[in-house]
Amino acid sequence: MSVAAPSAPSTEIVSVQNLKVRYGDTIAVDDVSISIRRGEIFGILGPNGAGKTTTVECIAGLRRPDDGVITVLGLDVHAHARELRERVGVQLQTSELPDKIQVREALELFASFYADPMDPAELLSLLRLEEKATTRYVNLSGGQRQRLSIALALVGRPELAILDELTTGLDPQSRRETWRLIEGIRDEGLTVILVTHFMEEAEYLCDRVALLHHGRVRATDTPANLGAGLGQRISFRATPELDLTALRALPEIRAVSEQGGRLVIEGTGDLVAAVIGELVTQRVVPEQTRVEQSTLDDAFVALTAQADAELATAQPARAA
Ligand code: ADP
Repeated sequence: MSVAAPSAPSTEIVSVQNLKVRYGDTIAVDDVSISIRRGEIFGILGPNGAGKTTTVECIAGLRRPDDGVITVLGLDVHAHARELRERVGVQLQTSELPDKIQVREALELFASFYADPMDPAELLSLLRLEEKATTRYVNLSGGQRQRLSIALALVGRPELAILDELTTGLDPQSRRETWRLIEGIRDEGLTVILVTHFMEEAEYLCDRVALLHHGRVRATDTPANLGAGLGQRISFRATPELDLTALRALPEIRAVSEQGGRLVIEGTGDLVAAVIGELVTQRVVPEQTRVEQSTLDDAFVALTAQADAELATAQPARAA
């Protein structure tokens, strides 16, 4: 047992159980359960309308769910809303600031709400907003507003930061810089919930992700495991003497197709060894061989397509 154990809080920092949210007839969030551990960057992924923003608004205590239980830092989000405002930083898609407020003023104002805030000057520098310190909010570009909203979410040294579409509207360089900033802060112990539809961002930053679709969690895992679950793809230039029937019979193979003169073989397990073994048996020499591991992006596409297909079968009337 570690020395800190008696007073150490649970490693679970956010618990969402059976969350349900309706807007009129629309079920935006349908029985979502998520558990987030201290110190991780947890991604909430999904296509538009999946229920991501609604879910994080509930975790942030900004929206009352119709059903379900949410605890953050071991506290019920509504019963302890005041205390949690001090300990949770929130960057939502639209941050409402007065047009005339200057960047530094806004940061200093937000800093004044907290007992031990970060130094606004340091944050200005970290988010490359120094030159805009005296610029009014209304005169900032989209990317600058975005960076300011990140700074405002972090200024109170939160234990949990909820960041919705962190880098939308940022140019590639600012995006990379923001990723490194978030990584650096995570390394100091911050837990981050990141809502994103950028697979590259999730792959780069997130320790684990939950994939939401039509208000439900379709999968929760590390980005690498989600990709690996789909397996691998090996492709090469096919030669006429290759016996496809024998190849298709291999247990590792899920699908064989021809694309642009190349044979594309998808499968799981020790796919590459199995395919090469079969080619050797058949004395076929593959040319221009390429092996690819499935990515989070592939998993996203596959899982959302599978969910759509299930929905179409289960509720044919819903499409009408
Ligand atoms: P996401 O963030 O994944 O795009 P949202 O949580 O914003 O998804 O929305 C989930 C569903 O709820 C969508 O169908 C959306 O149209 C609907 N919705 C979101 N906010 C409202 C609202 N204020 N009033 C009515 N419907 C809403």
